[in-house]
Amino acid sequence: MTKPLASLSLDLDNKWSYLKTHGDPGWESFPSYLDVVVPRVLKMLAERGLRITFFIVGQDAVLEKNHAALRSIPGAGHEIGNHSFHHEPWLHLYSPEQLSEELTRAEDALELATGERPVGFRGPGYSFSQPLLEELARRGYEYDASTFPTFLGPLARAYYFFHANLSGRQRKERKQLFGKLAEGFRPLRPYKWPGLPRELVEIPVTTMPVVKLPIHLSYLLYLGQFSEALAIAYFRTALRLCDIFGVEPSILLHPLDFLGGDDDRDLSFFPAMNLPAAKKLKMAGRALDLLAKRRRIVTMREHARAYATNIAAGLASEVASARAYEREPAESSRPAALVGSLEE
Ligand SMILES: [Zn+2]
Repeated sequence: MTKPLASLSLDLDNKWSYLKTHGDPGWESFPSYLDVVVPRVLKMLAERGLRITFFIVGQDAVLEKNHAALRSIPGAGHEIGNHSFHHEPWLHLYSPEQLSEELTRAEDALELATGERPVGFRGPGYSFSQPLLEELARRGYEYDASTFPTFLGPLARAYYFFHANLSGRQRKERKQLFGKLAEGFRPLRPYKWPGLPRELVEIPVTTMPVVKLPIHLSYLLYLGQFSEALAIAYFRTALRLCDIFGVEPSILLHPLDFLGGDDDRDLSFFPAMNLPAAKKLKMAGRALDLLAKRRRIVTMREHARAYATNIAAGLASEVASARAYEREPAESSRPAALVGSLEE
């Protein structure tokens, strides 16, 4: 029997985008660690035979200095996703015109740097809006992956504001950073957004079923500062709950999961940046091994397509059952209401 699937993606946030959101000077020259972190991640994935999705920021793709690193990603068989052009977590405040320009710029830059045009999108800082979803659908995107169903968003934002150097205007822009409390009530399983001009599948960032606590690698590393055994046990529990509740997890990685305090001292405001790279890499490897042992790891595009295929197959079997009912009503127990609903 084949293993149930799990998708894996990495938001390729660069050093400048963290400095910018944090309100630190120096981001304007777009400092980059991509030449260090990308080969490191690709090596770890290749050792395990994994193919994942990298959500790339357009601004990085227009800079020559990042081209070699970015080109190596599809070169190793991974999917390219769109992570916006400017990486502003207040993307939900953009007008429809700004959104259209933002997406076009990012798509063109990604295609230029990697030779691929994205079919998936993740908003910076999990930001999204109805006009954004409409624009993605109109452009023929297959999936969005911006929802993050957790109740911890406001807490994460409070932590962030406490440690950041922000003006009043900057705080206003970042007012919904990491989402509202209500985000915790969103589904964990994939679904199709209703009422859009074309089909668009949502693949939520998976959080722990029931309690909706984050389970992405950065959070595991945060726990790993206190105890590596605790972090791994936490992840194992989350995966067991995914089994029980029928959730095919979509697990999220970040560059700082693969960089330590010995690689970069400017980002020490980030949780778990006090750990050395070697310790983080060891834990990242353990978490990936645990996931790969229990699940067949796929890209986000494969996850979205598997969901769409399952829905189509489910619908086809319902239609077939309904037709059988029409032919042989006495031998079928299918309720008439379902036949009616399928004919609408
Ligand atoms: Zn990001």
